[in-house]
Amino acid sequence: MFCAGACIAAAPVKDYPYQPVPFTAVQVQDEFWTPRFETNRRVTVWYDFQKCEETGRIDNFAKAAGLMKGEFKGIPFDDSDVYKVIEGASYVLAMQPDPKLDKYLDELIAKIAAAQEPDGYLYTARRLFPPEKMPGMSGKERWSNLGASHELYNVGHLYEAAVAHFQATGKRSLLDVAIKNADLLVREFGPGKRGYPPGHPETEIGLVKLYRATGNTAYLDLAKFFVYVHGRPETHKLYGDYAQDHLPIEEQQEAVGHAVRAGYFYSGVADVAAITGDSKYMAAIDRIWTNMVSKKMHLTGGIGARPGGEAFGADYELPNKTAYLETCAAIANALWNHRMFLLHGDAQYVDVLERVIYNGFLSGVSLSGDRFFYPNPLEADGKTRFNHGSTERQAWFGCSCCPVNVVRFIPSIAGYIYATRQNEIFVNLYIGGQASINLGNRQIKLTQQTRYPWDGNIRLTVDPQSAGEFVLNLRIPGWARGQPMPGGLYSYLDAKTEPPRLSINGRPVSISMNKGFARIQRKWKKGDQVELVLPMVPRRVVAREEVKDDQGRVAIERGPVVYCAEAVDNGGRVLNMVLADDVQLKAEHHPELLGGVTVLKGIAAVATRDEQGMPILKPAAITLIPYAVWDHRGAGEMAVWLARSIEKAAIPPKPTVASTAKLSASHAWQNDSLTALNDQVEPKNSIDHSIPRFTWWDHKGTTEWVQYDFDKPTRVSGVEVYWFDDTGRGQCRLPESWRVLYRASDSWKAVDTNSPYEVRPNVFNKVSFSPIETTALRLEVKLKPGFSGGILEWRVLQ
Ligand SMILES: [Zn+2]
Repeated sequence: MFCAGACIAAAPVKDYPYQPVPFTAVQVQDEFWTPRFETNRRVTVWYDFQKCEETGRIDNFAKAAGLMKGEFKGIPFDDSDVYKVIEGASYVLAMQPDPKLDKYLDELIAKIAAAQEPDGYLYTARRLFPPEKMPGMSGKERWSNLGASHELYNVGHLYEAAVAHFQATGKRSLLDVAIKNADLLVREFGPGKRGYPPGHPETEIGLVKLYRATGNTAYLDLAKFFVYVHGRPETHKLYGDYAQDHLPIEEQQEAVGHAVRAGYFYSGVADVAAITGDSKYMAAIDRIWTNMVSKKMHLTGGIGARPGGEAFGADYELPNKTAYLETCAAIANALWNHRMFLLHGDAQYVDVLERVIYNGFLSGVSLSGDRFFYPNPLEADGKTRFNHGSTERQAWFGCSCCPVNVVRFIPSIAGYIYATRQNEIFVNLYIGGQASINLGNRQIKLTQQTRYPWDGNIRLTVDPQSAGEFVLNLRIPGWARGQPMPGGLYSYLDAKTEPPRLSINGRPVSISMNKGFARIQRKWKKGDQVELVLPMVPRRVVAREEVKDDQGRVAIERGPVVYCAEAVDNGGRVLNMVLADDVQLKAEHHPELLGGVTVLKGIAAVATRDEQGMPILKPAAITLIPYAVWDHRGAGEMAVWLARSIEKAAIPPKPTVASTAKLSASHAWQNDSLTALNDQVEPKNSIDHSIPRFTWWDHKGTTEWVQYDFDKPTRVSGVEVYWFDDTGRGQCRLPESWRVLYRASDSWKAVDTNSPYEVRPNVFNKVSFSPIETTALRLEVKLKPGFSGGILEWRVLQ
């Protein structure tokens, strides 16, 4: 049924010096990963397909094929979402036969094939939209606006899906579609033909995979050409550093631009460099990699700090709350680092890969497999809607690249565990299960038993078909060698660690290190036992002083897992917590919690205020959970980097009459929050989009109200209101007029003001009135005709 490797038409002559053991030769049986793989297989694959159906992504193919009527629905790169789920589903199918999934894929692929144009072109948006209807999207001609259209990006994912489906099932149905399309690109692009890059890299990776599967060097040549034309002065610098098109690759120095594009591009460069042996390309990606790990990577392995452009920031620009760190960028980072390992055979790249998969990638999908983060910040206030309109993981997105990337990435993790080179085996990741490894003429079965990442004890049983000499390399992770990440951006506060221990057949042996691996060269026989112990204790991490957002702060890791504090475990708040350097943290495993996690506990402190309002510290229990599983118990504060002393703690403001009032409104827009009114967050200006807001959207020109209810009669003498106005961006304006009412027994009465009701932007509008005692205040607001309006903060004066 499946024939990974065996069906490949022609193995390329030259490729990566280190070869991965394909995931089809690895059976994962692991306490940590098996449940994730199973959820991906049983839930995410079908869930993603269902969402692709509901949102018209699959109908777009049927419509383009003339099988149904209707217009294109969605955005230009929706085709690629379908391809990505097919790739994931194919991996699932390769691991475990599933006739229902196999049949579903056959039917879906038939629609895709029918949507392909006679010359091989495949892009449903153009087929269904006359070009004049989509000038901003795909341009008048094919491939004339690649940055927006994603025409070539889409087919890169088509090639990856086609190769995966072919390798999983032996069927050529999608592979033939991919080949027909790639042949068209070979005719259209290249020296003397169209000479510009794909706009969103991905095509290069897909072409190399298609080359490996078919042996057709024309695909490799086109991948080489696409890498080459990036930033060439003789072609066009179309997209700038946003799409890594600012300079030829061999002149590029830093990780820049859109982080997903970057990770895919550098992966494509690595593929081409591995196959061609181009030393300038290798030097370029080595340089860019060093820049990234030493200056532009978050502790979770996330990349792309800036929401604007979903892009890398400047050196050391590593914010926590506003960090973007798209789930797709984490995946791209993992793909790239795996390739860097295959190129150089150094464990430092796997250190990065491991950091990504246990932290900044895995946070992107819920334990249930059907809720997703797009950005993965390292701090949350529980109110800001950082996840494309939500404070929590979402069911789907308008641009839904991340959920469909998760589904293909999870099963591929099994393919990162082992690698070989000549007479050597490399154990890169500690994940339980079995692998069948071909080493020259020798077949070796490796059995790995471990409770990693919760426990650092690893037992390997080596079963060669026949006894003989070869080398087993066991990765000693950076975290077990006192180095959280290569490049020195982060370091452990407690420098000393208990060293790893290694034994063979029960006898301790000294560790001989080579490129981050414990190298064991010996004559192996059936049943040989290797035991590796990586002592796992909670470790304190600090960032270099240039990282200003982390100064005075500490993060906690244990093994490869980055921890965070979440409000639900810590009395409702964490941004005011202080974790002094001498606080002892104890690990406790909780099989019933969050799918089974090791939590860390201790007695830390919270910053609060005494009766005079002065900041003080109070002892408080602290519980830390793995960052990857935060936000499974409702929105709330979360932080990876905790204050080491009171100066860095966010001390809650003193409660006020307003902040403790009960809130209500005549109407509230679903994406806004009423709590914005009294959250005591001061706006920078009336168009401040960085803080929670309240609006009456989509009511326009109406008379509306907001209300504070006090729990007992309260004396008040004025209010201050900060109006929201998004002129130039939206349809909210300062109101036409407003007034303050108070509850007097059963009716509302206007207050007796001694100052006018002003309506000014960018300031608090203050009104004072003769003091009254009441149980409720109301702002009655007349909106400008044709416009809506809102409030950023409403204070009450006593
Ligand atoms: Zn994404």
